[in-house]
Amino acid sequence: MKDWDGLELAQRHPAWAKACFGIRGTATNHFMGEGWWAWVIPLKDGDFSIGVVFDQRFVTWPEGGSVGQRPKDFLCRHPAGREILEQATWIEDDVHWRRNLAYKVSTRSGDGFVLTGDAAGFMDPFYSLGMDWLTFTTMRAVDLIAAQQTGKPLAAEIERYNRDFEVSYDRWFDAIYRDKNSYFGEYDLMRLAFLMDLGFYYLGVAAQPYRRGESALRESVFTTAPSIPFFHLMRTYNRRFAAIARQRQRRGATGRLNTGRRFLFGGFTFSLWSGRHLVVALASWGWLELTEGWRSWWRTSESKCPTAILPSMVGKS
Ligand SMILES: Cc1cc2nc3c(=O)[nH]c(=O)nc-3n(C[C@H](O)[C@H](O)[C@H](O)COP(=O)(O)OP(=O)(O)OC[C@H]3O[C@@H](n4cnc5c(N)ncnc54)[C@H](O)[C@@H]3O)c2cc1C
Repeated sequence: MKDWDGLELAQRHPAWAKACFGIRGTATNHFMGEGWWAWVIPLKDGDFSIGVVFDQRFVTWPEGGSVGQRPKDFLCRHPAGREILEQATWIEDDVHWRRNLAYKVSTRSGDGFVLTGDAAGFMDPFYSLGMDWLTFTTMRAVDLIAAQQTGKPLAAEIERYNRDFEVSYDRWFDAIYRDKNSYFGEYDLMRLAFLMDLGFYYLGVAAQPYRRGESALRESVFTTAPSIPFFHLMRTYNRRFAAIARQRQRRGATGRLNTGRRFLFGGFTFSLWSGRHLVVALASWGWLELTEGWRSWWRTSESKCPTAILPSMVGKS
């Protein structure tokens, strides 16, 4: 692996090196393209965890070579991936391939059991929701177990647990992940979605335990009344971005706005002032609809597949 912050890359790409005042090498870095995304995470032993998550509708995975060679070949098709990974080597017995990674379960709790974390469902790890899902399910599971210990009747609580996390999983997926792979390769769409997904989640979900204490961790995401309008809003813009991306694919205009673009963002805080980024992003979405989105206003959804994440590769290099 090349050093993200090293002299070699800085000399070859001075504008890229100067644009970032932080250290890239200790961060989780992502690469993205049409129908796929990849992570590069530094590990403490000096190795890196590298993986590709892709959607079989859009991506033709390299056929030849070993399980380690294929993600390398794939990522080296990406200009930045090639820069970083051209000389990378993988650890032969630490490369894994998983097909159809996302899943949900129909019953999360019953007589004498309760499922939490990944056992209660798994989605695309793109926004790192795993620990949040784990927290929400575990908080409620602990309540169930505590109630059982006191001998309280549990049937209604078990039913509520099953219902809440079923609704939460489905809405979470619908609002954020459904068909997102369609526009992973579109800089402008992804930039807006990133701002809004992150902003609404930050201000609406992540801020709650800080404002209201741990009771907020018992409210599964998108199940409370105030969260429903945000669920609909998020689902709508994500659907629209997917539709706009599909329209671009039909016109042969995929990735036309990508070259030379860079978006560096300071991040959200829990202050309401942070909401200004959302206001700007919503206005930009409106403008996008008027200038381009109208082309797909009357087309029905063409999602070919009910789930958006299919196989994934996990490896170390
Ligand atoms: C590539 C990738 C990147 C991710 N990045 C993030 C991130 O940045 N942030 C985030 O929040 N989440 C992330 N996640 C998700 C996160 O890792 C998981 O959601 C989280 O680890 C789930 O915790 P868990 O305890 O439910 O399951 P696990 O962490 O899988 O723990 C289950 C444990 O049970 C053990 N086990 C299994 N079977 C048995 C058995 N029969 N007997 C005894 N023990 C058993 C397993 O060995 C394991 O230790 C990522 C996931 C992936 C795949």
